[in-house]
Amino acid sequence: MATQVHVVGGGVIGLSTAWELSRNGHEVTVVSPTPGGDGASWVAAGMLAPVTEAQFGESALTALLLEGAARWPAFAGALEAASGRSIGYDTAGTLTVALDASDRASLDDLLTYQHSLGLDAARRSLSECRQLVPALSPSLRGGIEVPGDHQVDNRALLAALVEANRAAGVTYEQNTVASVSAGPELVLTDGRRLRPDQVVLAAGVGLPEIAGLDPAHRPEVRPVKGHILRLGPAPGRTAPLLRRTVRGLVRGHSVYLVPRSDGSVVVGATVEERGTDTTVRAGAVHELLCDARAIVPGVDELELCEAAAGLRPATPDNMPRIGWTAIDNIAVATGHYRNGILLAPLTAAVVVDLLDRRPLAPLFKALARV
Ligand SMILES: Cc1cc2nc3c(=O)[nH]c(=O)nc-3n(C[C@H](O)[C@H](O)[C@H](O)COP(=O)(O)OP(=O)(O)OC[C@H]3O[C@@H](n4cnc5c(N)ncnc54)[C@H](O)[C@@H]3O)c2cc1C
Repeated sequence: MATQVHVVGGGVIGLSTAWELSRNGHEVTVVSPTPGGDGASWVAAGMLAPVTEAQFGESALTALLLEGAARWPAFAGALEAASGRSIGYDTAGTLTVALDASDRASLDDLLTYQHSLGLDAARRSLSECRQLVPALSPSLRGGIEVPGDHQVDNRALLAALVEANRAAGVTYEQNTVASVSAGPELVLTDGRRLRPDQVVLAAGVGLPEIAGLDPAHRPEVRPVKGHILRLGPAPGRTAPLLRRTVRGLVRGHSVYLVPRSDGSVVVGATVEERGTDTTVRAGAVHELLCDARAIVPGVDELELCEAAAGLRPATPDNMPRIGWTAIDNIAVATGHYRNGILLAPLTAAVVVDLLDRRPLAPLFKALARV
C-alpha cells in the first residue's frame, strides 16, 4: 500500500532508500540539512569491494557484500537513465599489492582465506602486476588481482540520486530532526512537527543524537574516523596515472588509490576511534601520502586538492542494521561502516520490503535485530 514516508538522512543510504520507495509508489520526503552534500557518503572513496573488504571472521558480512555488489549493475543503469547523469561506475577491477616480504606473507594468508570463501582472486607476480598497472613501484613483492571489485564516483552518485529523486517526485525538507515519538511524529530543530505514515531513520552516525528512541531498541552506532585525500592530475599530464583501483599493504598499513575518469585519484583511508572529531590531522595526511607513494611513486606529481575526514557509522559486529524500532512505523537503516556505498542498492530494496510488510529473505532477517 502506498504510504507517506519521511526518510531522515540525505546520505547514500537515505537517498537510495527514498528513490526505491518512490519507485514503489510511496510518497517520500527526505529530511536532512544538506541532502547529497555531507556525511560519510560525501567523503567516501566509492569502492564496491566485497572481496578486498573480506576480513577474517566476517564471512556473514562478506556474503552480504557479495549480494550488495550483485545489485550494482542494474542499479547503476537505472539511476543513470533516471537522472540523466553519469555516476562513474567503473568495472576495471582491483589489484592489491605488497610492499615487503612480510606484507606479501600477509597477502598470501588473505588469499588463502578469500579462496576458502570461494572468492575470485588470483596471485600475481610483480611483473604481472606491472603489466596491469605500469605506474607501480618496481620494488614491490607482487599482489592479488580481484576482477570483481569495482568502484563508483560517490559524489556523482549522490548528485544523481538527488536528481532522480526530484524527477520521481521526492521532496526535500532541509532540516534536522531533534526527536521522534509515537504517531509516528518527528520534531525538527526549529520546533515544527511532521506526521507521516512511516519513517526511516538513515542518519548515519547522527542516529544516537535523535531523542525519543528507547536505547534498548536502537542500534548501537559509533563513529569511526577516516582520513582521505583527493589528488588532481599532474599539470600537463594527458594519460591518467592509474586505470584501476590499487590497494596496498605497506609495512602492515592498508592504503588504497582509486582513480576517477578525470585523471584524479582518491587516496585513503585511516581507521581511527576518535569520537565525532573530524579535524584533519597533518600526521594522517603524511602517513597516507607516504604509503601511497611507496606503491605508486607518480603520486608525488599529483596536485593535493583536498584532505578530509569522515565518520563511518559502525556497529559492534560491523553488520548494518535495517529493521523496525520499538516505535510503530519507525524503521532504521544504518551501521554500514566501511561499505555503505556498496550496500546502498541492497539496503534500499530491503527497506521497501520492510515497509511494504513483505517477508525478508534469511540473509536480511539477521540485520533486523535493532
Ligand atoms: C574515509 C571513508 C572512506 C569510505 N570509503 C568507502 C568505500 O570506498 N566504499 C563504501 O562502500 N563505503 C565507504 N565508506 C563508508 C560509507 O561512506 C558509509 O558507510 C556510508 O556513507 C554511510 O551512509 P549513510 O547514508 O548511512 O550515512 P552518511 O553518509 O553519514 O549520511 C547521514 C546523513 O544523515 C544526516 N543526518 C544526521 N543526523 C540527522 C538528523 N538528526 N536529522 C536529519 N538528518 C540527519 C546527515 O546530515 C547526512 O546527510 C567510507 C567512509 C569513509 C569515512
